[in-house]
Amino acid sequence: MGTPFPNSKTLFLLSLRVLFTASSSSPSTAFANEALSQCLISHSQASQPITSAIYTPANSSYSTVLQSYIRNLRFNTSDTLKPTLVLTALHESHVQAAIVCAWKLSVQMKIRSGGHDFEGISYVSISSPFFILDMVNFRSVDIDIETETAWVQAGAILGEVYYRIAAKSKVHGFPAGVCPMVGIGGHISGGGYGNMMRKYGLSVDNIVDACIINVKGEILDRESMGEDLFWAIRGGGGASFGVIISYKVNLVRVPEMVTVFRIQRTGEQDATEVVYKWEQVAHRLHEDLFIRLVVDVVAGENSGEKTVRAKFIALFLGDAQRLLSMMSERFPELALQSSDCIEMSWVESTLYWTNFSIGTPVDTLLSRTPRGLTHLKRKSDYVEQIMSKDELRLLWKRMIELERPILTFNPYGGKMGEIPATKTPFPHRAGNLWKVQYATNWHEDGDKAARHNIELTRKLYGYMTPFVSKNPRAAFLNYRDLDLGVNHNGDESYEEGKVYGVKYFKGNFNRLVKIKTKVDPGNFFRNEQSIPVLPR
Ligand SMILES: Cc1cc2nc3c(=O)[nH]c(=O)nc-3n(C[C@H](O)[C@H](O)[C@H](O)COP(=O)(O)OP(=O)(O)OC[C@H]3O[C@@H](n4cnc5c(N)ncnc54)[C@H](O)[C@@H]3O)c2cc1C
Repeated sequence: MGTPFPNSKTLFLLSLRVLFTASSSSPSTAFANEALSQCLISHSQASQPITSAIYTPANSSYSTVLQSYIRNLRFNTSDTLKPTLVLTALHESHVQAAIVCAWKLSVQMKIRSGGHDFEGISYVSISSPFFILDMVNFRSVDIDIETETAWVQAGAILGEVYYRIAAKSKVHGFPAGVCPMVGIGGHISGGGYGNMMRKYGLSVDNIVDACIINVKGEILDRESMGEDLFWAIRGGGGASFGVIISYKVNLVRVPEMVTVFRIQRTGEQDATEVVYKWEQVAHRLHEDLFIRLVVDVVAGENSGEKTVRAKFIALFLGDAQRLLSMMSERFPELALQSSDCIEMSWVESTLYWTNFSIGTPVDTLLSRTPRGLTHLKRKSDYVEQIMSKDELRLLWKRMIELERPILTFNPYGGKMGEIPATKTPFPHRAGNLWKVQYATNWHEDGDKAARHNIELTRKLYGYMTPFVSKNPRAAFLNYRDLDLGVNHNGDESYEEGKVYGVKYFKGNFNRLVKIKTKVDPGNFFRNEQSIPVLPR
């Protein structure tokens, strides 16, 4: 692989590669860390000092910096493989230095923005050694209401984007995820869905430009990167193609007042009937209305016995009166009352949707302090056919046996069915009724608890096999799931990549591979589930 960077110390640096292949307990580790730091320093510009952005294990803030964006406690243990260093880049030239040094020293570079990857692949690695390029300092959000666009940097979090838009306009928003702390870099490059997807599609459907640094260290915009690469980084996962610096997004129109509600029915209240109706109507309702269904297991109010609870959580882009008349006509089984409906601004609804109480100040969206971290496992599926009432009852029975895993169903239809499957790498469009998320959260530390809870999640996923998409059994990239396959980035890389790649990208996988082969033939940008290059 060629590199355009000036290279005054090639021989010295090449000789250091061998140090980085030593195990993390090797006596040469400290020397290797020092070599990487020195390389970064020698490849940075004097006008943009890099030293204060480098955190090696010798630095007292190393653990804090490393852990501050670990959002899954499963990967915050003493056994978790640690990076050689964390570089909290302050300037594009630091990103360029990171790329050149990672290449020269053969050390893997992981890219982290918000740290929400469900398998932690932005900050852990199955192959030692590695370091983290942390984009946390690239967090500007520049809104231009006149053109209804915004430039958003990779390290900004969704909450910041929502807050900054609302500070400029009451009638604009952006269609993205419901967790305000998720980072732009991973979220948008992996697709990005939220409760406005039936009206406006995914985040990637609303991107008009981007800034990326490629393997040669070149800073590219849409025009200079070309339409192929621009296509790939809108859902194909940024980390396979380069370092995303920012995206230019189209803002969307929202009414000054939206309506939300949250209604629940347990098994004792005949949840099955209402869920069955939800299956039939949720993907067919007006695109202004998004009703998410969450099913978990609780103690029944009457008997105290375990039962399922179906929670219907809605965002309606309109007022309560219009919502009520729509619901009484299309979904009377839910028996929505005006007392269930809460009108608020769109930005307030983003807080409501992440379970903040009503009246919470909107600047809470700027917070980067999580409200309680747990150990997480996620899996995903797509449903193309309605489940019968008997099938639903059987599913409830299985859920009650497993007790802990939670199911979330996100309805499709609307705009999601109109956008061609090849428009972006995200292929899950027309024909899907809803997306399933399997979620298990646990507080207990240790391998035993992790194995147990992961197994529960896999079992529920197993039970759903007859009811979900087949050939391939499709999955959502942003719900990263290493059960779908792992790439060791060796000789079998293409074959390994195909296993998970076809599930995440279906027919778009081949195009992603071709683009990858063109823009990064040496597979520099790689991880456990990156897009492979074509076999030689
Ligand atoms: C609590 C929670 C709620 C969520 N809710 C939603 C939701 O509503 N909708 C949805 O679509 N998803 C949701 N997700 C999934 C989330 O969108 C993905 O995990 C996303 O990849 C996270 O982005 P990040 O930058 O925070 O993560 P990171 O862990 O930093 O990165 C994730 C991946 O992107 C890569 N990456 C990160 N930054 C860059 C960059 N600058 N350049 C190139 N590659 C980069 C990483 O290397 C890694 O492969 C949720 C996740 C969590 C934990």
